[in-house]
Formats: sequence, C-alpha cells, structure tokens
Amino acid sequence: MIHVSKDFNKYPIALDFNAVNAPIVAIIEAAIEEGTSHVANRGYYRDKIKEQLFELYNFKCAYCEAELRKCDSALHIDHYRPRRGKMPDKSGQDIAGIHHHGYPWLTYEWSNLLPVCASCNAGKSSSFPIEGNRVAQCNDKDKANWGEFQANSRTYQDEKPLLLHPEIDDPNLHFRYNISGKIYPQGERGKETIKTYKLDRPGLDAARKTIADLLVARIKKMAAPPPEAMPCEGALLHLLAGAVDGFLNKMSESVQNPRAQTS
Ligand SMILES: [Zn+2]
Repeated sequence: MIHVSKDFNKYPIALDFNAVNAPIVAIIEAAIEEGTSHVANRGYYRDKIKEQLFELYNFKCAYCEAELRKCDSALHIDHYRPRRGKMPDKSGQDIAGIHHHGYPWLTYEWSNLLPVCASCNAGKSSSFPIEGNRVAQCNDKDKANWGEFQANSRTYQDEKPLLLHPEIDDPNLHFRYNISGKIYPQGERGKETIKTYKLDRPGLDAARKTIADLLVARIKKMAAPPPEAMPCEGALLHLLAGAVDGFLNKMSESVQNPRAQTS
C-alpha cells in the first residue's frame, strides 16, 4: 500500500452534488432516506467514475498494489466505509443497544471509493473496525451535512478507523518489510490492515521479494569493483560491498525483530 493523492473536493462530474441540476442529488437523498435497503446505482458509483479512479491508482489495487486489468468489466470498487453490514463498536458490541448497519449514505462519496482487487475485496467484505465511537446513522436528508461526508473530516476521523486509508494515511508509518518480501505491522492499525486485507498472503510476499531482489542486485552491482579498477579502488569497493551486505542483513534482522539494534 502506498499513499495516493486524491482531491476530495474535486468530485467527478457524476458524483458532484454541487453541480446545477445534478442527478446525483436525488440519488444521494434516496440513499440517506432508504438506508441499507437502498439499491446502489452502480452507474453512478462505479461505471461513471471507474476510469478516473483506476487512472489515479495507475490501475493497481489501493490496498495490495496488485495490477488490475484495464478492460476487466469486473473491476471492483470498494466502499472504504461499507454500505451495509453489522458494525459493532470497539468492544464488538452493538452501540448502546443500537444496531449500526453500515454507511449507506456514503455510497456515492468520492473519498469513500477505492479501486481494489478481488482478493482484498473478499478479505475485507463488510468489516470496518474502529477504536473510537461510531458515527450515528444518517437517515434524514434535511439534517444531513454532506460537507462532512468526506473521509478526512473531523466527524469521520473521530471514529479512529483501524483500517488505513491510502488517501489519508501514510502507509510507510504503519508497515515495515524485509528483503524476503515479508510485511510486518507497526502498531495496531498496521496489524488490522494486514489482517483484514491479508497483505501477508504468499503471492504478495513473492511479488515483494522479486522487487527486493532486483534492488539488492542493483545495489551490489553499484558496489562491485569494475574490472579496470586500480588495486586500492578495488579494495575500497570490496569494503563497500561488504558494508552493503551487512546493512541488508541488519535491516532484515531489525524488521523481523524490532528490538534488534541497527548500527
Ligand atoms: Zn488488492
């Protein structure tokens, strides 16, 4: 997962509820009023925006970075906050006896839509664990503040979501990797994100190892003494190559054992 910049205020035309006579206004109002019984209009939340969304992500999954086929009609768009599903509070219980069944009013919210691969989509399903207090259900279109629907707004950040959002969070702060392609969490949010999307699945480990191997080979090549090197130059480069090896080994140990000291 990498951070991707998306302008949350720059809505695609199909989702721009500020536009004059925008058809999406009535559709969002219906989603608010109908709640989980709302039948999502895929033409709006998927078909009309998928090109823009997938280009933003360079046709890669927002969570695992797997390549997504450009012409695949089954391209998945994930609702970061699920449209429906049982949403317990942080202790796994319903909130004070109130059943929370998802976020149907965010069905067409630009900041809530992410391109994903089938594996990540299946891993997540309709889960959305949080550490804070879940926002109240929004079911009155006249009281709803659409300006607060954005995922980085105070209202939604106060939920303290445990799943990382690639357009809000910096994944580099929550994951570490070793040169074997393994991923390790740094904190609870990294842990929950890896678990939910199965970012430690063997196929991803192998893909990361391939890239790590290429990088290591490139570094070693840079440090290897050229055949025409002078004797002292060769010795120095040999020392550098040894230092690179040592560094890579240390890096691998420290990721596997965060308490190991690097020096
Ligand atoms: Zn994925």
